[in-house]
Amino acid sequence: MSAPLLPCPFCGTKPYISQPMAGAKWWEVSCSDEDCGAMGQSCPNVDDAIAVWNRRTPPPADQVVSS
Ligand SMILES: [Zn+2]
Repeated sequence: MSAPLLPCPFCGTKPYISQPMAGAKWWEVSCSDEDCGAMGQSCPNVDDAIAVWNRRTPPPADQVVSS
């Protein structure tokens, strides 16, 4: 793997990368905390899946702002 996989932006748990289906042609990063369940976007290769996951870190603080 070429890029470091950042911790989950929601719970800080170390995520893992996997193919959601055996023989699938895409990859996705998932939080290893089942209670969190954060998932990255499915991508056709490992590098893209990692990049997409890393882009969702840090957590979207603007969503916490009360309107
Ligand atoms: Zn998480």
